[in-house]
Amino acid sequence: MNQRLTPPAHIGIIGGGQLGQMMALSAIQQGYKINVLDPDPSCPCAQLAETFIKADFNDVLALEHLAECSDVVTYEFENADSVLIDGFNLNGKVPQGALALTLSQHRLREKEFAQSLKIPCPNYSSIHKQEDFHQLHDFPYVIKRCRYGYDGKGQFTVKNQNDCDQLKLNFPDEYIAEQFIYFEKEISVVCACFKDGISFFEPFENVHVNGILSSSRHPAQISEQLKKLAYEYTLRIAQSLNYIGVMAVEYFVTKDGILFNEMAPRPHNSAHGTIEGCTFSQFDLHIAAITGSHQIQPKTTSLTLMLNILGQDLQSVLQKFTVMDPNHVHLHVYGKKEARTNRKVGHITLCAAQNAELQKVIEDWSIV
Ligand code: ATP
Ligand code: MG
Repeated sequence: MNQRLTPPAHIGIIGGGQLGQMMALSAIQQGYKINVLDPDPSCPCAQLAETFIKADFNDVLALEHLAECSDVVTYEFENADSVLIDGFNLNGKVPQGALALTLSQHRLREKEFAQSLKIPCPNYSSIHKQEDFHQLHDFPYVIKRCRYGYDGKGQFTVKNQNDCDQLKLNFPDEYIAEQFIYFEKEISVVCACFKDGISFFEPFENVHVNGILSSSRHPAQISEQLKKLAYEYTLRIAQSLNYIGVMAVEYFVTKDGILFNEMAPRPHNSAHGTIEGCTFSQFDLHIAAITGSHQIQPKTTSLTLMLNILGQDLQSVLQKFTVMDPNHVHLHVYGKKEARTNRKVGHITLCAAQNAELQKVIEDWSIV
């Protein structure tokens, strides 16, 4: 895409969850129109769509319809059908492309790809059948289903062969056994890839609880040396994919450096704080990049702590905060039909100029 798509061009989004909703809010503010494809007409993004297509993500005719009524198409999650996307991308309608999707959809391929770029990963091996567990030594391991995982779903930690024998895996599904990493921190690097350059947000520092992202602090408190390394690895990934749009890479920080965990070719939960804490949010940059803008470099204007709200906590959070609460607290509620247990239904972003101030906000609101 050489020319920038100007408003009111139509942006088609495959997937109508909260990432699609926040992309759409930014796009609408910039003057674009939104079309959405999702099986659920009450999904968070549906109310923002000019055309809503109720269909499964692998419904070829529905995807064709989305491509026809949109000037550019993006996806908000990894499980969009990469073969179909590849087909549409022949005419350049999906700037993110299909390669990043194909790789990130399969944990084994993703790790092989990172290794091919000389990016260190936890030791891993493939598990195709129960006997493959016998090759494992140096326990513990994390066993992950290669496809369709998110929020730690399809993952099991095993401490010995006996634990492996107890696992009821669903072969011929493929699995990966990853060495359990006793990390010091988890970080993510989120970059925005434009046609003429790649911009970075400073890294995010993430805390997971039960495999689900709980909080992200921005910027991460890591050394300049590690930060440089994390940018370098992420740049290597983005460049080798010829990627356009926002993408995220998750790393484990250990005493020996950083290890690649996984990548997401889309805006990322850890970077929601950029809405309030940066001159441009990750969603602004994603929309700018896929509509063919020249490179934009975001600046951090505030320290942020982003806290996810899970379904079971929504009512108590709503009682504690109102949407317009002052004192640096920003509440986002995605408008999901049901507040399901362990599903993300919103987030809170706390902002402050300095760490001490951020700490005070956290304590004042007895947040963590
Ligand atoms: P998400 O959707 O939150 O990105 P996911 O289901 O795609 O998660 P991972 O990122 O692979 O899965 O794992 C979720 C979390 O589980 C990690 O962020 C980390 O806290 C923990 N974890 C995963 N792999 C390992 C490992 N090899 N060693 C230690 N902890 C791990
Ligand atoms: Mg992850």
